[in-house]
Amino acid sequence: MIVARDYKSFIEARSKLNGSVGFVPTMGALHEGHLSLIKKSISQNSATVVSVFVNPTQFLAGEDLNKYPRPESADIKICELAKVDILYMPTIEQMYNSDELKISAPKIRGYILEGANRPGHFDGVLQVVMKLLNIVKPTNAYFGKKDAQQLILIEQMVKDYFIDTNIVACDIVREPDGLAMSSRNIYLSPNQRIRALSISKALKRGVKMVQSGIYDTNQIKDTIRDVIEPEVDTIEYIAITDRRLKEINSIKLDDTIILIAVKIGSTRLIDNIWI
Ligand code: AMP
Repeated sequence: MIVARDYKSFIEARSKLNGSVGFVPTMGALHEGHLSLIKKSISQNSATVVSVFVNPTQFLAGEDLNKYPRPESADIKICELAKVDILYMPTIEQMYNSDELKISAPKIRGYILEGANRPGHFDGVLQVVMKLLNIVKPTNAYFGKKDAQQLILIEQMVKDYFIDTNIVACDIVREPDGLAMSSRNIYLSPNQRIRALSISKALKRGVKMVQSGIYDTNQIKDTIRDVIEPEVDTIEYIAITDRRLKEINSIKLDDTIILIAVKIGSTRLIDNIWI
């Protein structure tokens, strides 16, 4: 595996790859969720590129940019063992110039849900993903449904900007007890971690309601609220939308996402389920 830390050495290594190239962009602190994307890429492409870059422009003032976990040597080892071809770990200076051109998230879908609670977050996400797709020029790029809105906006960006990459949506990987894997889970104390289980429990309850024939989304949202409210410190949103992120009043099978964002202590957690 080649570890490239600057654009020039990345381009040199990239030029030696033949056939289809799969790409998995990450912010590092790699876990089984990331690994499932990497494995999918390896199984579907001739070569796989992973990037680790904690992107400053997607963090808002006061968020966890400085304390975001950066276990660099563990990340390198994980990628090596997984048989990644190139690991790209650029510096901020390699990725950004001063007074540069900006990508803006769409005014509606970019400013609801995560975008309402973290205004400007998706400008930064789309900006860095655009850069990375242009650098890596992958055949396929792999994104987790864990970040549902991010995935949907990236699909839109690729379409709107005619980027020649196929976006592959990957299922959420969970701990055996249901907690969605996240690099931020390490912030949780043992007690907070137990309380965080209410999120996946509430999503499962929502699915059970749908399976029993309840399609009224307000009724489902009320039940979800009852499950998580006693356990979390803040509920940022409980939303039921279609796959274009439009709120719906009645469940549409194969076209629905239930999304939750909460805070437990100072840790922000998101999770969702696609029905
Ligand atoms: P991050 O490092 O948090 O920016 O995540 C990098 C990629 O991994 C994104 O496409 C995420 O959606 C995906 N990802 C993160 N956690 C999970 C998970 N538990 N299951 C599946 N994909 C995930």
